[in-house]
Amino acid sequence: MSSNKEDNFLEGVHLDTLAVRAGIARTAEGEHSEPIFMTSSYVFNNAADAAATFAGEMAGNVYSRYTNPTVRTFEQRLAALEGAQQAVGTASGMSAILSTCMALLKAGDHVVCSRDVFGTTTNLFGKYLAKFGVEVSFVALLDLDLWRDAIRPNTAMLFMETPSNPLCEVADLQALSALAKENDSLLVVDNCFCTPALQRPLALGADIVVHSATKYLDGQGRCVGGAVVGSSELMEEVVTFLRTCGPTMSAFNAWVFLKGLETLRLRMDAHSQSAMEIANWLQAHKSVEQVYYCGLESHPGHELACRQQSAFGGVLSFEVKGKREQAWRCIDGTQIMSLTANLGDAKTTIVHPATTTHGRLTEEARAAAGIGDNLIRLAIGLEHVDDLKADLQRGFDAL
Ligand SMILES: *Cc1c(COP(=O)(O)O)cnc(C)c1O
Repeated sequence: MSSNKEDNFLEGVHLDTLAVRAGIARTAEGEHSEPIFMTSSYVFNNAADAAATFAGEMAGNVYSRYTNPTVRTFEQRLAALEGAQQAVGTASGMSAILSTCMALLKAGDHVVCSRDVFGTTTNLFGKYLAKFGVEVSFVALLDLDLWRDAIRPNTAMLFMETPSNPLCEVADLQALSALAKENDSLLVVDNCFCTPALQRPLALGADIVVHSATKYLDGQGRCVGGAVVGSSELMEEVVTFLRTCGPTMSAFNAWVFLKGLETLRLRMDAHSQSAMEIANWLQAHKSVEQVYYCGLESHPGHELACRQQSAFGGVLSFEVKGKREQAWRCIDGTQIMSLTANLGDAKTTIVHPATTTHGRLTEEARAAAGIGDNLIRLAIGLEHVDDLKADLQRGFDAL
């Protein structure tokens, strides 16, 4: 592989440039677009080279569970965007979280986790890690006192997402990072909703960022993947886990995500702009009780979001006037939006959290999390915003 002449020029350039240029390593063919290395293993020139490569004394690829050039390009590009020393690609967002935990936690450790994280993350901590002797306490995202009280001498990790799903609550990353540091715990942030285009948690004191690349990094709903991002020291542990246990990213998916990263900023800005416009429109609508979007000045997290994010993202929620029946009628009345729990897609999605993403919670837990029966979540895509408003109006007309 020839060296990347651009590497020297990438110091100090803007995120947009990194998103297009970082990590390129051209082969002798001189290809302009990043190639997909669809190969499970690699060959050596001779037995001595094979031995040296296996022993780690010579740089080179051995097997795609260990390294793959397309995956490496994705990793280098994402690391550059997050301002990190290293990123590691994984098979999914969940395997990014699992790999982080398996690499950096042990039996007897304790984790404090936000109550308002992706539902499957709650199950991973509450069901599977608990089975291996890792204890977890769930706390409300915004209550710093609860976080402080939950921390024990054996607390090895704090885990959270900001903004939260579906109410767009914004956590103070610097305050949580200070809390983690006081106790020598790691602060792990799921940056799926903002992506590095809008928020860089490592610069605010987080130790590790995890991603579901399935969402905005892809941006067009094609592939499942994930990533863990942080210091080389921490990532070395994660890489060792991945090489041993295998939930690695496929070369094809890495290539799709690479292409996704090239348009990340443009998409995130467009998602954010349309979401802002729709949030304002909904807030003034007679059929709407309340809107939850941290871009709105009336949202309690607005000021903090202005400080730690460059825009407010594509996900917002609102309560329709009425109960579950009205929420369902509104959803069923729309025609353009896709009724699916996924997000981070060019296609706008609409979902009823209380009976889908948060359907397995008890009624009390849902009430505590503020997820009412009349709540609807939108993940605004790239359609024209006027058409989305017209679609929501069809929903309101069906009430
Ligand atoms: C989707 C999602 C995950 C899980 O990612 P997968 O790629 O589906 O495994 C984790 N965190 C958040 C915030 C998500 O939205």
